[in-house]
Amino acid sequence: MRISLVIPCFNEERGLEDLYAVLTRVLPTVSEDFEVLLVDDGSADGTLAVLRRIAARDPRFKYLALSRNFGKEASMLAGLRHADGDVVALMDADLQHPPELLARMVDLAARGYDQVVARRSRRGERPVRRLVSTLYYRLVNKVVDVTLQNGAGDFRLLSRRAVQALLSLGEYNRFSKGLFAWIGFDTAVIDYDNVQRRQGDSSWSLRKLLNYGIDGVLSFNSRPLRLGIYLGALVTTVAFGYAAWVVARAVRHGVDVPGYVTVMCGILGLGGLQLLFLGVIGEYVGRIYAETKRRPHFLVKESGGTGRAPVTLPSGPEVGEVVAEPFAQGIAR
Ligand code: UDP
Ligand code: MG
Repeated sequence: MRISLVIPCFNEERGLEDLYAVLTRVLPTVSEDFEVLLVDDGSADGTLAVLRRIAARDPRFKYLALSRNFGKEASMLAGLRHADGDVVALMDADLQHPPELLARMVDLAARGYDQVVARRSRRGERPVRRLVSTLYYRLVNKVVDVTLQNGAGDFRLLSRRAVQALLSLGEYNRFSKGLFAWIGFDTAVIDYDNVQRRQGDSSWSLRKLLNYGIDGVLSFNSRPLRLGIYLGALVTTVAFGYAAWVVARAVRHGVDVPGYVTVMCGILGLGGLQLLFLGVIGEYVGRIYAETKRRPHFLVKESGGTGRAPVTLPSGPEVGEVVAEPFAQGIAR
C-alpha cells in the first residue's frame, strides 16, 4: 500500500527538521512505499527554503508552495490533489499529531476502513476552553445535518475513494471537519492524548476560533435561517396578543401615556433580533457571492522534489488557468 502524507506548513521553519527526523524514523516502519507532500502555505519565514533543502536531500519528500497564504483548508486541498498514494494521511507540521499512530491507522485502513480518524483528548487544555468546546459541539450537532465530533480534526487517513469524494466537493467555503463527516464511508476512530506544540505558536486566536465556530454552524444548511422564521413567528404572535390587550385597555380606560419602558424594550429587542438575522442572511449571501466567482482554491507558485529541479510556474493566464482550474472542473474531467 502506497502511503501519501500531506502536511500543510505555515511559518513552520523551526520545526521542520524535527519533523523530517521523526518521519524518516517512523514511516519506513509503516510502509516501504511512501511519499511526504509538504505544502508551504505562503509562509513569511524560511519554510520554503527548508522544504527545498529537504526535498533535494530525500526523494521521498516533495513540496508545493502556494502563491500566498490561502489557509489550512486550501493547503490541505492542494496536497490532497497532488497526492498519489493508495491511502492519504493528513497531518500537522508541528508534531501535535503523533506520527507513531500512523501504523495503527494504516492497519485499520487495510482492514477496509475508508477513513481512520485520530481523535485527541482535550487533556492539558484549560478547563474553560474544554467546557466551551464541549458545549459548542452539543449545540452545533443540533443545528447541522452531519455529526461533528469533538477532538476529531484533520489528523486522519483517507482511502483513495474517500480522497476522490472529498475532491469532488467543489465548494469554495471549505469547512473540512464537516466535509469529512459529509462524505461518510466506514470510519474508524482511535484516541490519543493531546500533545503540546513543540515549536512556534498556534495560529489560532480567540477571534479565529469564534469565526471558525460560526463557519461550522453556517456551512452545512440553512437551518439558522429557519430559526429566524420560528423566532419571527413567535415574536409576531406575542406582539399581536400584546397589541390586542393594549387596544382593549385603551378602549376601556382611555390612553395613559406612560409606557416608555415597554416601548424601549420592544424597539431594542426587535432591533437586536433584526440585526442578528440580517447578519445571518448576509453570511449566506456572502457565501453565495464567493461561490459564484468560482475562483480557484489556491495557486501554486513552485513545486519540487519530484526528482527534477524545482519548477517555478510562470505567471500569466495560460498557465494560471491550468494550475488554477476550479476544483469541480478538475474532477469532472
Ligand atoms: N497552517 C496552514 N495555513 C495556515 C495556518 C496553519 O497551513 O494559514 C498549518 C500549520 O502549519 C500546521 C497546521 O496547519 O501544520 C495546524 O496549525 P496550528 O498548529 O497553528 O493549529 P492548531 O494545532 O493550534 O489547531
Ligand atoms: Mg498545531
